[in-house]
Amino acid sequence: MIQLAQNINLSKEIINKLKEYQDEIDVLATFELRNEKAKDVFPKRNKIGNTVFDTIKVKLTEMCSGARRCVYCEDSVADEVEHIHPKDLYPNFCFNWDNYVYACGNCNGPKNNKFAIFRNDNGKFHEVNPPKRTKATEPPAGSSALINPRIEDPLDYCMLDLSSTFKFVVIKKLGTSDAHKADYTFNTVLRLNEREFLRKARENAYTNYKSRLGYYSSEKISGTAQNKLDMLIENLKQEAHPTVWKEMQRQHSIGILKNIDNDLDELFVKSPEALNW
Ligand SMILES: [Zn+2]
Repeated sequence: MIQLAQNINLSKEIINKLKEYQDEIDVLATFELRNEKAKDVFPKRNKIGNTVFDTIKVKLTEMCSGARRCVYCEDSVADEVEHIHPKDLYPNFCFNWDNYVYACGNCNGPKNNKFAIFRNDNGKFHEVNPPKRTKATEPPAGSSALINPRIEDPLDYCMLDLSSTFKFVVIKKLGTSDAHKADYTFNTVLRLNEREFLRKARENAYTNYKSRLGYYSSEKISGTAQNKLDMLIENLKQEAHPTVWKEMQRQHSIGILKNIDNDLDELFVKSPEALNW
């Protein structure tokens, strides 16, 4: 799961059109009616040929890492407009630009309506998705217990173990709501540790990033022209699983990478510019 690029905005015209769509829902009197309306109209609008959603998909693509990778697994191609706040539970966010990310079907499908909050009235963690085959009811007020990659950096909540498992480890203090939020997001909803092919893909990405950095460093030392070096940098940035790269940078910066992989640590010493890629 990766934080998305910031400052990617829609034109006023598209924002106004979204508001028009949203008003059709918000004007309805009950949650049940709003819920039904959102479920009905979203798939009708979210179609190729609808200018609003064609534009939204272009903008969401700009936000993605590499070759349009899914925000959640960073592995598959992102091809579904996903609501962070599920539209079935939050019809009021159905046509809200800030509520959209681009995800793959493998992540979006199982995530479905899974959502939890910390309730405003008692601060407690509360899963608000309805049990299977039951209708959604209006959730109580509260703050999201799901990390929002549009505004938050998932790496503030977890560290990727680069030494052996390539699993995410919660770094927030045990027992706090932030730790609960991290565990709920990474493990319960997105199953980023459980899905073995993702763990393996991260391990593989580590080797790829390392060899790309090694190649860059040796080319730089041998006096390769800057435009060729720039191409190597661009290629590295297109790799899947950019979280692995970010974690490599972080673990070098805080001085723990050398204990895990001294060769890699040395590459960052030789090419400190790589810390900004
Ligand atoms: Zn995915």
